Amino acid sequence: MQQEKIPTIIIVGAGLGGLSLYHSLIKNKDKKEFNVKIFERESSPTDRWQGYHIGMSNYGAQSLLNCIPSSIASNLPKAIPDPIPNVEIHGITITDQIGNVLLAPPTKPFKDVYELANVSRGQLAIITYRDRLRDVLLEGVPVQWNKKCIKYVETQEGVWVFFEDGSQEFCNILIGADGINSPIRKQKLPELQIVDYGITHVGADISVPKQLMDKANKIHGNYLACKTLGTKGDSTFMITRLIPIKQEKNDEMNEPHYRATLTYSYPSELDNIDVESDKVKVDDNDPASVIEHVKRLIRELRPDCELTDLLLELWDLAPKTIPNDPIKFPFKTYNPVQRRMMRDIDPMSIKSWTSSRVTLLGDAAHAMSPILGLGANNAIQDADKLSQALLKYTENNISFIEEYEKEMLKRTSADVLKSRNVTFKISTPVGPFGVIIRDSILKVINTMINFYGFVDNLIFKN
Ligand SMILES: Cc1cc2nc3c(=O)[nH]c(=O)nc-3n(C[C@H](O)[C@H](O)[C@H](O)COP(=O)(O)OP(=O)(O)OC[C@H]3O[C@@H](n4cnc5c(N)ncnc54)[C@H](O)[C@@H]3O)c2cc1C
Repeated sequence: MQQEKIPTIIIVGAGLGGLSLYHSLIKNKDKKEFNVKIFERESSPTDRWQGYHIGMSNYGAQSLLNCIPSSIASNLPKAIPDPIPNVEIHGITITDQIGNVLLAPPTKPFKDVYELANVSRGQLAIITYRDRLRDVLLEGVPVQWNKKCIKYVETQEGVWVFFEDGSQEFCNILIGADGINSPIRKQKLPELQIVDYGITHVGADISVPKQLMDKANKIHGNYLACKTLGTKGDSTFMITRLIPIKQEKNDEMNEPHYRATLTYSYPSELDNIDVESDKVKVDDNDPASVIEHVKRLIRELRPDCELTDLLLELWDLAPKTIPNDPIKFPFKTYNPVQRRMMRDIDPMSIKSWTSSRVTLLGDAAHAMSPILGLGANNAIQDADKLSQALLKYTENNISFIEEYEKEMLKRTSADVLKSRNVTFKISTPVGPFGVIIRDSILKVINTMINFYGFVDNLIFKN
């Protein structure tokens, strides 16, 4: 009897989504065996700095744990340290521009990522180190580095995938997990466009000394994700863990420091303020000029108060040059502090999505505004759902792909639009009356959700 040939799956992109899918396909090998290959354009794991923090939701955590084998799960504490009881609040607080709390949705303490993954109602999150999660997920995965996919060709039998180095590979199913600028999406769905919000976003990864973190905690009450709203459509965000960075011997830092991710967003038209009033040129290849620009905007748009001083001090910590110490910073490419445009892709904005042997997951299909912290969570959920769908793989029928895409499109389009809507709302300038209305609405919502959270907790206590 002739043995059935093992089908080949190619994943393009070794990001959070692509790696989760790889693990899940290998984990399910006993149920359905595939020959899985994963290709990445970066030259090595330390090619590109991968960022400090993301919020892992209960849905993301459930999917992550479904995808990974126990050998990887045992390393998760490196990327997702357990919350520190009575010290860290894994939730978000939104304040006005002088630090009055407008919204602080209820949070529930949980022990670790396993307990979080068991939460089936509402949305909670654990602040996770994005770079370390990528490292943990890379363990034991035979990523083929330096392989930039440029196009594919579908045939009756399968798909040929072409790389920039001139090589090509054949597979039965191709999965584009290749991020927002995915060449696979551009070829498969050229009409699916990236939407530019007209909102500028500047992000920086910083190391915060204890005395400054204490000041921040005094305002934000140990919440790990803190947003402040200005009145000109500008907002700031800081996300951190209250776990000190390991200090090396003879380290010049003589007080504990903490990793934090800082962002500042504003309507892009505010970029012209500097040009007109200060005649200072902002150069996105010069991080120092971008940091100065952010500080000038903060000084100009925010009132004189303790919160504004804190924000300015925090932005002073942003790296003004690209780090060049190969031991402390082994990456070839650093994300310099740069102005970036906020963008998204609504996967349901096109009339039809034709299913084929080529499919997409994560940002490639549905990049979204980072405001609600849903991007990575959806990429990991895609990986989980797609690996389940692939268990139904048969050679001549792609209904399992259709099934995956139907669920993925509905879930992620809703999150793209929700994130877009919130981003636009907080990026709309408000006048003196508008501020009163905005703040009052947020305070009423806050009272309501905390009341319902309290009642919910009483009824569904687990
Ligand atoms: C400031 C900021 C904060 C965020 N905060 C959160 C948060 O709190 N919670 C959350 O859930 N999400 C957050 N996100 C979003 C999150 O990081 C992404 O949504 C998530 O990483 C998407 O995973 P992915 O696997 O689809 O794409 P990525 O992780 O971007 O991986 C794509 C991979 O494909 C590779 N690639 C690209 N092109 C090619 C090619 N042609 N050939 C081969 N390889 C290629 C890339 O090098 C990369 O390794 C945030 C994003 C930003 C910018």
